[in-house]
Amino acid sequence: MDYQRIFAQAIDRLHAEGRYRVFIDILRNKGAFPNARCFAGHNGPKPITVWCSNDYLAMGQHPSVIAAMEEALHDVGAGSGGTRNIGGNTHYHVDLEAELADLHGKEAALLFTSGYISNEATLSTLGKLLPGCVIFSDELNHASMIAGIRTSGCEKQIFRHNDLAHLEELLAAADPDVPKLIAFESVYSMDGDVAPIADICDLADKYNAITYLDEVHAVGMYGARGGGISERDAVAHRLTIIEGTLGKAFGVMGGYIAADRNIVDVIRSYAPGFIFTTSLSPVLVAGALASVRHLKASSAEREGQQAAAAQLKTIFADAGLPVMASTTHIVPLMVGDPVKAKKISDILLAEYGVYVQPINYPTVPRGTERLRFTPGPSHDTAMMRELAEALVEIWDRLELRVAA
Ligand SMILES: *Cc1c(COP(=O)(O)O)cnc(C)c1O
Repeated sequence: MDYQRIFAQAIDRLHAEGRYRVFIDILRNKGAFPNARCFAGHNGPKPITVWCSNDYLAMGQHPSVIAAMEEALHDVGAGSGGTRNIGGNTHYHVDLEAELADLHGKEAALLFTSGYISNEATLSTLGKLLPGCVIFSDELNHASMIAGIRTSGCEKQIFRHNDLAHLEELLAAADPDVPKLIAFESVYSMDGDVAPIADICDLADKYNAITYLDEVHAVGMYGARGGGISERDAVAHRLTIIEGTLGKAFGVMGGYIAADRNIVDVIRSYAPGFIFTTSLSPVLVAGALASVRHLKASSAEREGQQAAAAQLKTIFADAGLPVMASTTHIVPLMVGDPVKAKKISDILLAEYGVYVQPINYPTVPRGTERLRFTPGPSHDTAMMRELAEALVEIWDRLELRVAA
């Protein structure tokens, strides 16, 4: 058995399809977001502008977040020292869970080491606890939800993206007596569209299903206190479980669910991905706590982000660039070819000091490869104009323009 050859061939397949992943080696400059240094070149670090960060609001560099993390580090040290059950249940964890429960208007919340783990652990455990459960899953759901659903062992029914009629058709066809769970996202992070949450809750009521909403790309950014689209649309109380991350708009790391006390208790007690792992560092939890509290009270970052996204979409559209129809802060440009998407990204970095990662399969369906820009409150007009000019030049150079 030639193991090395099998691995090498797997890598060769990625190269052949133009989707071999290259991680760009960067350091962000604290206090100067979105400026960073890139270590790809030969002559030491090169200054770049980051256009693809999920630290959407630059909270990862916010003075109150950094101060809280420094204070925690000096007060209690680096790590938690244990699982939640065995020595790792710090007071920071308890406080943050209360803060997150309040953020979503739920009785309780539960922290995980990442948003991925929160989805995987919660969905797999729920599915195992509900005998005969059928899980209805939006076709564009994140890999972490898909992994959880698979591990649950439940029957899975995939409904077409945001398609209420299709979801209802599948719900109606299922046995009325089996448990049902509808799993979906609020903001879909690659297209930037939003789920019809209230309508999905109506269907859940009609067919007696529970609901699981991933608000990873909305928490901190939508709603008066950053509670996500479910807060903005005043439907949080209708959802059974809301899941979020502390690693994107909150700028730190970790994931969570918020739900009623019973559900949180059952996940806390049964989910291996929660139980058998060291709890988050108290330093991270302290930073996340400061970030959640700040964004509950301040809307300036959210407003700045919305304004930047609207402006960048307009600038792209005016320049004739193929900006996709996003209704949120996500600004995707369609390329439709993995090799070209990578090529554009390479030229931007090498020649223009612009960092935007190409998005290829399996993150998006084949043939819809794209560049995904995430402007935030610190991306200014001059940066946007320079970016659009660079893109127009590259689009022309690669003959990507559709003939008029
Ligand atoms: C990033 C992401 C996650 C995972 O969150 P992490 O905290 O990064 O692990 C879950 N769901 C969606 C939709 C995501 O985009």
